[in-house]
Amino acid sequence: MFPTQSPRIAVIGAGISGLACATALAEAGFAVQVFEKSRGVSGRMSTRRSENWQCDHGAQYFTARDPAFRAEVQRWIAAGAAALWEPRMRVYAGPGPTDWTSHASSVERFVGTPGMTAPGRLLASGLQLHTEVCITGLQCEGAVWRLQSAAGDIADPFDGVLLALPAPQAQALLGDVAPALAAQVGSVVMRPAWALMLRFDTPLSLPFDAAFVNAGPLRWVARDSSKPGRGAQDIWLLHGTPAWSAPRLEWPPEQVADALQDAFVALGGSHAAQWQLHRWRYADTERTLGQPCVWDVALGLGLCGDWLQDDKVEGAWHSGRALAERVLARCPSPRVRRIAFNSLEYAQSLRLREAVLRAPLGLPLSAQDQKGEDAQWHFGLFDPAGALLACVVAVPVAQGIFKLRQMAVRADTQGKGLGAHLLTEVETRLRDQGATQLLLHARLSAEAFYARQGYQGESEVFEEVGIPHRRMGKIVQALK
Ligand SMILES: Cc1cc2nc3c(=O)[nH]c(=O)nc-3n(C[C@H](O)[C@H](O)[C@H](O)COP(=O)(O)OP(=O)(O)OC[C@H]3O[C@@H](n4cnc5c(N)ncnc54)[C@H](O)[C@@H]3O)c2cc1C
Repeated sequence: MFPTQSPRIAVIGAGISGLACATALAEAGFAVQVFEKSRGVSGRMSTRRSENWQCDHGAQYFTARDPAFRAEVQRWIAAGAAALWEPRMRVYAGPGPTDWTSHASSVERFVGTPGMTAPGRLLASGLQLHTEVCITGLQCEGAVWRLQSAAGDIADPFDGVLLALPAPQAQALLGDVAPALAAQVGSVVMRPAWALMLRFDTPLSLPFDAAFVNAGPLRWVARDSSKPGRGAQDIWLLHGTPAWSAPRLEWPPEQVADALQDAFVALGGSHAAQWQLHRWRYADTERTLGQPCVWDVALGLGLCGDWLQDDKVEGAWHSGRALAERVLARCPSPRVRRIAFNSLEYAQSLRLREAVLRAPLGLPLSAQDQKGEDAQWHFGLFDPAGALLACVVAVPVAQGIFKLRQMAVRADTQGKGLGAHLLTEVETRLRDQGATQLLLHARLSAEAFYARQGYQGESEVFEEVGIPHRRMGKIVQALK
């Protein structure tokens, strides 16, 4: 269905489902743009910051039961964006003051660090993201999608549009372009919740850090400051039940805050020095759509989010990845792909670099060669069976400037234009990410190749890894 070599995809919504979907497609070489109406990413995995305190007021923690999501969470942990949270947990069954039980569970609970938005920000860091852009309309002109925003039309056309929004917001956008799908989405029931954030001057001496509450207006209370990487102040978060919140959504903030604080006092808490309130219109899903994602290949239109099947962070991430897989399965993936650091493809690229660049010099690929590669951009050219034919690494060195290094083409495929193909594709992608200038250290044996690609010599010959090199550079046209 997609006419171009790098299909152009718009993902609307930068919550965890949209970001999971967008990163998978971008890594596969699609030209992805993400549109988000808020100032920051992460949607309902959110942290409110005010003066000198902060509090997670949406998702409180996430589980990681499935191996693929566990691996993703490990990546977040390695990047410092998430950590295990081990709160002292209790359950209040009500109605009496002694109706508490401890909550023994082997479930691991993870949180973003230093706040719940951190994993989302990590995922968004490699994406072409437009924040504070609220998409208000979709239009399908033949095989091309056009988007309207609150501030006017989006100039770029797209081959596919993926909505990663709560069901009622997706339904509103689908109304004109896919009425049958809109009606299907209308069967989903999402429920609201009030969230009250509390700051105490004196820490409360409650015997728990988090509690499931099964009686009264509250359903969850937690000491936010017991999560790893938080500040020293005593911060608590209270969530109202959907049943209590729904009929009170239009109450004045003071009245909601008083009622929820009174309920907290009845559980042994007290009144706070400062509070903040947030109204979640779509906190959880009473009736899901019952499938991981929706992908209409004929229209080039997809849906993902927590309301499709599993209304949790883990479910939203899976929904986003499932949609990306459906999209990828329908069109052959472009041959140049971004390689994730420490992935199996990365291991493949290390082997290729060692074989092509180091072994002929009698050198191993050293730890020095790999230093800082977690922050560098790795690209590979793959054949349809998934074998790596060529690779290159791009190092962001300054605003708009990248250094290309470790370009390697498999020995048996050299001289067939694959290196030029990889280089051209990588230059386009770096330019799309704001690159204006590319640098590299060319071996003299490869100088003519780079000169044919438009690189110019910028230095005298110097020695690197025991052989002569020249510094070369190329100005690439920045996108308007
Ligand atoms: C109060 C509360 C408590 C929760 N507790 C937990 C918990 O403890 N554990 C757990 O696993 N999960 C919890 N969740 C659920 C979890 O937060 C969600 O399942 C998950 O974050 C949903 O991600 P998503 O990408 O599907 O949607 P969202 O996070 O809602 O992302 C949608 C994004 O789309 C944007 N958007 C909407 N309309 C437009 C538009 N027209 N144009 C552009 N952008 C738009 C929004 O701003 C938002 O960023 C909780 C949620 C809430 C609200």
